[in-house]
Amino acid sequence: ELSGRLESTVKNLSGQGKIRESNISEALREVKRALLEADVHFRVVREFVAQVKEKALGEEVLSSVTPAQQFVKIVHDELVVLMGGAHRDIRFENNQQTRIVMAGLQGSGKTTQTAKLALHFRKNGGHRPLMVACDVHRPAAIDQLETLGKSLGIDVYSERGSSAEDIAEHAMEYARKKDYSLLIFDTAGRLHIDESMMQELRNVHAIANPHEVFFVADAMTGQDAVNVAQEFHEAVTCTGFILSKMDGDARGGAALSINNVTGVPLCYLGVGEKPDALEPFYPDRMASRILGMGDVVSLVEKAESVVDLEESKKLEKKLRRNQFTLQDFLDQLRKVQKMGSITDLLGMLPGVGGKLKGIDVDPKAIKHVEAIILSMTPAEREKPKILNASRRRRIARGSGRTVQEVNRLMRQFEDMKKMMKQMNRMSRKKGGVSGAM
Ligand code: GDP
Ligand code: MG
Repeated sequence: ELSGRLESTVKNLSGQGKIRESNISEALREVKRALLEADVHFRVVREFVAQVKEKALGEEVLSSVTPAQQFVKIVHDELVVLMGGAHRDIRFENNQQTRIVMAGLQGSGKTTQTAKLALHFRKNGGHRPLMVACDVHRPAAIDQLETLGKSLGIDVYSERGSSAEDIAEHAMEYARKKDYSLLIFDTAGRLHIDESMMQELRNVHAIANPHEVFFVADAMTGQDAVNVAQEFHEAVTCTGFILSKMDGDARGGAALSINNVTGVPLCYLGVGEKPDALEPFYPDRMASRILGMGDVVSLVEKAESVVDLEESKKLEKKLRRNQFTLQDFLDQLRKVQKMGSITDLLGMLPGVGGKLKGIDVDPKAIKHVEAIILSMTPAEREKPKILNASRRRRIARGSGRTVQEVNRLMRQFEDMKKMMKQMNRMSRKKGGVSGAM
């Protein structure tokens, strides 16, 4: 955890009035290394470290926090600045149609994020979105958008055999007649930048006269994304960018770099293939995440969104009385599955993240867990503590799983119990009713 490493590398400053270079040089190296590891461009890193150093040096050491914490805070605040300061949302004008043009290379995630944005703004703000299929170069591209539209109940404007420009123009007319409040133009991308693609994009841009141009970057492409972003920005002046595939093991450093190099703010993160896997980007939360301080706010919010309040109150009571059973565990696992990637969520949680990384929530794994739990007697499910070695062997045989799997399940059960207690505490602090999953 970076914040921990930083704290331990900041030399003891007590009794000194100011932070000095010798106190923080090791910590600065640590910051530098962490950012480079996260795939942040080296020039951005160099500038950033210089900035932090300048801020830190000569800073009066406060008495209320440790100097090390103070240093971590400086790094945190500078990270927030580096990532654009505040969250930047789309500006919707009252009663006016808003138009968005998507831009980016092929495979970056434009079509997927088009659907995500449409869904997001239908849910948040009650917009009436129309998705416009302007990618006429890949035969399957129009089908892909239509299929997404159909499954989400979002209208798609498409034509076969027309140019992207004609489609854009006709979509504008259609939307005026039918009173759509939000138009999102999905466009074509190539594997590499080429001039005819850029020209087509400029043409669609001119016709749509958009309020927003979102450049979609694949987080997995790392530094390359920065150069590509810059070229698109020169062609159509992007107003924001979306980093897709942040659910993979992308290190996300490109996010910091694109913003820094182009000045275009990161607005949304794509965190999965499903249409609801879109998150507004909050620089302060991301800074906390990079520092490993735990993205408590978005964790709790996310948890709350899938929680049935009544049920979670019951659960909280059970946890307090230590009556949380394996049956509850199974129910929770099924819910966690709905939330998406648990490792992502847990990674945000300070302290418990690492321990729980092993929990698998793919449907097959849950079936296995189910088989194990259903092989237990009701008494065992209520009080897993009574499971000794021979009963574990019997359960393994009964469920067709291995003893190791049974043992792992028991460990995960205990870990989840701990984690849920912690989440309950957090959400109580936050003032919510309950954040249990
Ligand atoms: P386009 O060529 O730019 O329109 O890209 P697509 O929207 O067709 O996406 C390319 C691939 O990336 C598809 O298989 C998508 O399912 C996948 N994809 C898009 N966004 C995300 C994301 O946020 N996370 C993950 N894991 N996959 C994504
Ligand atoms: Mg596409």
